[in-house]
Amino acid sequence: MNQSANLYRLQVIDSKLEMLNRQVHHLHRQIADEREISVIRKIIEEQTAFLSQLESQLNDISSKTASMRTKMEQSNSTLYGKANKSPKELQDLQMEIASLGKHLPPLEEQELDLMVSVEAEQQKLSILQGQLKTSVEFKAKSHLDFEDQIAIVTKEIEKLTVERDATSKSVPQDALALYTRIQQVKSGIAVVEVIDSGCSSCGAEISKSEWQEARTSTTLIYCQGCGRIIYGN
Ligand SMILES: [Zn+2]
Repeated sequence: MNQSANLYRLQVIDSKLEMLNRQVHHLHRQIADEREISVIRKIIEEQTAFLSQLESQLNDISSKTASMRTKMEQSNSTLYGKANKSPKELQDLQMEIASLGKHLPPLEEQELDLMVSVEAEQQKLSILQGQLKTSVEFKAKSHLDFEDQIAIVTKEIEKLTVERDATSKSVPQDALALYTRIQQVKSGIAVVEVIDSGCSSCGAEISKSEWQEARTSTTLIYCQGCGRIIYGN
């Protein structure tokens, strides 16, 4: 086997390794991706703040209406009670009852509206909490799937790494160093095949004699278009 064939084998292994490493990286990123969950958490946070604001408004208004009702009962029972009252006292009581009778109903209406709103917002919050639970469970399940996939890919990487070590031992040191240098500057591809008389990477024409030389020569032949090593297959 000539040198370019061994380097080509190395190239095939390296390209596979690169693809598999990218896969592992992508899987780790998917595991770390918590975007959907953070969006739901943020909405829940806002909903909780809004709900507590409504609840505190409702508490205020409820304590106001409760104290007005108590006051009205007290004034009514004083008005109709047996104790003697001066005409001024009677008039004051009547005025107070009339004023309470005027102001209480609109407040009670507001209280009722707020009760309805609080209930609706509580329901929304509980739906959101359900969504969060579902998302967290789904994410946990996906984690397991991703971990399984990572284990499979990692095993494949280990196998290829052993194969790569063995293959690189069959290549002379200087050729290996050259291969690595070309890989570094040529997007990881150092060795190209000849397909339809052209370089499989840049498409430049490879003459029959160049191809022959790549097949038989002990020295390496390079593509004139991209400078990569030609594999004389
Ligand atoms: Zn080329």
